[in-house]
Order: sequence, then C-alpha cells, then structure tokens
Amino acid sequence: MNRKLFLYNTASRSKEEFVPAHDPVSMYCCGPTVYNYAHIGNLRTYIFEDVLKRLLLALGYRVKHVVNITDVGHLTSDADSGEDKMEKGAHREGKTVWQIADYYTKVFKQNIKDLNILDADLWPKATDHIAQMIAMVKTLEKKGFTYKTGDGIYFDTTKFPRYAEFARLDIENLQAGSRVDMGDKRSVTDFALWKFSPKGKQRQMEWDSPWGKGFPGWHIECSAMSLAYCPQPLDIHCGGMDHVRVHHTNEIAQSEAATGNPFARYWLHGEFLVLDKGKMAKSSGDFLTLDSVKEAGISPLAFRMFCYSAHYRSPLMFSWDGLKAAGQGLANLKKLALSETKRPLTPGAVSAESVDAVLAPFFEALCDDMNMPVACAHVWSLLKDPAVAAEAKYAAMERADAVLGLGLLTDDRPQEHVSDLERSGVRLRLVSLTAPDDALVDKIVEMAARRTQARANKDFPAADEIRKELLGMGIEIKDLPGGVAECRIGIHS
Ligand SMILES: [Zn+2]
Repeated sequence: MNRKLFLYNTASRSKEEFVPAHDPVSMYCCGPTVYNYAHIGNLRTYIFEDVLKRLLLALGYRVKHVVNITDVGHLTSDADSGEDKMEKGAHREGKTVWQIADYYTKVFKQNIKDLNILDADLWPKATDHIAQMIAMVKTLEKKGFTYKTGDGIYFDTTKFPRYAEFARLDIENLQAGSRVDMGDKRSVTDFALWKFSPKGKQRQMEWDSPWGKGFPGWHIECSAMSLAYCPQPLDIHCGGMDHVRVHHTNEIAQSEAATGNPFARYWLHGEFLVLDKGKMAKSSGDFLTLDSVKEAGISPLAFRMFCYSAHYRSPLMFSWDGLKAAGQGLANLKKLALSETKRPLTPGAVSAESVDAVLAPFFEALCDDMNMPVACAHVWSLLKDPAVAAEAKYAAMERADAVLGLGLLTDDRPQEHVSDLERSGVRLRLVSLTAPDDALVDKIVEMAARRTQARANKDFPAADEIRKELLGMGIEIKDLPGGVAECRIGIHS
C-alpha cells in the first residue's frame, strides 16, 4: 500500500510525515515496572502502541518492537528519593523481589495476550542489562556529565544545554518553585544514574560497580537497553504522557550526551484514562486492573474497543457504563461483520485493488495520526454499504481487523447442537447448546408423542397444556413444515 503516514511528534509538537531511518523500523516502548498489577490506564497506552505497530505492518513496514521490563531501580518519586518500587512491592507481599518481578511480569504478559496486543519482538529485563548501564554511566563520567553525591552518581543537567527543549521546561521557575528535598543534588532537574545501597541496609537487588555496591537509576535502563537492541537514532519511541517531563527528557539527555548522536526521531505519547477527575495512578490508592474488568463480566476486547472511542492524544473518561456500551458496540459490530460478509470461495477472488479502494477512507483516518474514532466509523459504514459485495467486505474486514485487533471475523457465539430423531411415531429436531442427556431426550419424546396424539384427537387444549409444560422446563416446541417438531432446549422464558 502506497500511503503516507503522518504522526504527531511530541519533539516538534506537530504532525510529521513518518519516514523511517531503519528497516525494520525500530520501535521502543517504555514497559511496565513489575511491582504490582498494571492499571487499565497503563494498558490504554499499550493498546495505542499496538495499533501503531499493526498500522506500520499493514502499510508494509517491518517492525522491531522492544518493550523493557523494569524489575529494578524505579523509585517511588521522580525526585530520586523514596523507596525502590520493587523492594517496596516485595516488602508489601512478603516475597522476594525476584518473586515479585516474576509474578507481575507473567500477569502483565497475560494482560497483553487478553487484549490481543501483538507480542513484542524483545522484552529485555533491566536486571539482565546492569553491565550495559554501568558502561553508559562510565562513558558519561568520562565525558564530564556526572558528579557524585552521598547517595549516588548524578547526571549534571546544566552540562546538557538542550535539556529543557523536549518538554519545554522552564528551568528557572522549576528551581525557584521546587519544594522537593534536593539532597546533595546541584540542580532540581539533575537525576540519579546510579544509586548507592543505603549504609547498613542489605538490599535484595544490588550490584558491584566502579562506584560501590548499588543499583541503577530508572531512566538509564531505557537508554542502555534501547541502544543495546536498536540502531541509533530510534525510529519511534513511545510511552505515556506522564513520561515527557522527566523520564523521556532524562533518556534523551543521557543518551545524547553519551553517544553524541540524536536519540530518537519520532516521539509518541498516549494520553491518560481519566477516573474521577484525576489520572488513573497507582499512587492514589485503588486502581482498576484488567482482572477487575473481567470480574465484572466484560471482555478485555470490550476495553480495547472502549479505547477506540477517543483519539490516543485525548484524555478518555472512564466509566463502567461507557465500558459496557463499548462491549455492546463490539458485539453489534461483530454481528454485522458476520452477517454482511462472505468468505470468498477462491483465494484472490477479490482483487487487492478493490479492497484498497473500499478501505481508502479507513486507512486515510489511520494515517492521519491514528484517528481511531473516524476509522471505526468507516468500518461501520463499509459493512452497511449495499454497493459493496459480501466477498469484498470479507476481504476488507480481514485487512481492517489486522489493525483493529478486535477479532471481527471470529465467530465466538456459542454453537448450537442439532440432532434429528424419529421415535414413538414423532419426528423431532432437538436444538441445544450442549448435547442433551438421554433421560431428558426420553422425557421430550414421551411428551411430544402425547402432544401429537392429543392433536390427532383434536384435543387442542390438552396439546397446548403439554406445550406449556415443556416451556416450564425451558423447552420451546414449534412445528416445522413436513411434520417435524423442533424443540429448543434451554429457553429462558
Ligand atoms: Zn523508558
């Protein structure tokens, strides 16, 4: 498909045509800190990233998708104070840090699977890349970008003149308005590259380094791991909106200071899922997980559909009613897709050009910085368009769903079990969701035979009594042409 893709680049604050520097396209996404369940606000970000990846693939690009697993070093505050989130999680649950990391990594990957998010090509873990992080800090030290305090090695942001550029920071005001405990930091924006283990306290995760026992800062891990697996500059770097001011600003500063090259070309950020007028954050206590959604009887794909109701750069207000409506919308869309499409009998029966043509408005919306609400509206109108043949609709839905990831052509409605039988002078068709047991079949045959006899005797009230009796048992009897009585078992009346 020969189509230009435009993406909003946070770095330039504008939509730019996407022209990758590498094949495959390198796409690095900040991953989870595995100390707790992911909240559904986090998952919204991974869904937007998945749509981006699926779109790139649909446009014919190859993609190398890397998502890190933060299993060490993420402090509870951006100010480089506070506990390490992993050690805190372990303390909370009475487990080792390694058990915590292992457990929540598995839960996260299950969330990803449930949401039909394509697996990343690489899931590097921070604890497997300590050597690369130490090497990067050493380079920064050699180039004069670091200083040492009582609790760690810090990046000196005054040595990197472009520091404020990415997030449009007003450093002077930040300094003046800072209420956080600076410790020995020289500037409020300076950040830890390596933290020393606290004196007299044994950490579960700590490593030897040229500066003594300790652990890496959070920001350095993304720089070290993205550079370990992707050629510089990265084509695409994604994350949540909350990463712009600190995490990504710091990633850029330390990576560009260390290598002397631009770090990433296109920066994409997903907006928050909003709950009760605040962003959905774990630090505020209660938060919703995908398990809470499943426990409410709502499918994870309904949540995926819900995310499509807003542009990824717009805040999305969460409500259970909204989520349920999205689930109903998805069910309706699937029903429409299954009834309006027909799988072509021979492959290639529908030409690629005709599919391109009917999908043009869909891809136009997607290539305009992934406008999902508009793209989804086109899917509805395409399915309802009487001018498009059912086979062409099928081929188009296959292509569209490769981006949407909603399983639109998968018929997951319960399949009916149908059996025909002729016994005691009656011909019956039994329709049920599971095969009925023999005793029930005997009972139905016996009652149907009595009903047939009553009708032969023109005793219609008696025949109707039997019909009602069957209905009371959850069975609906109906006469089909040709003297066959259909019994639908499991009717809720
Ligand atoms: Zn990151």
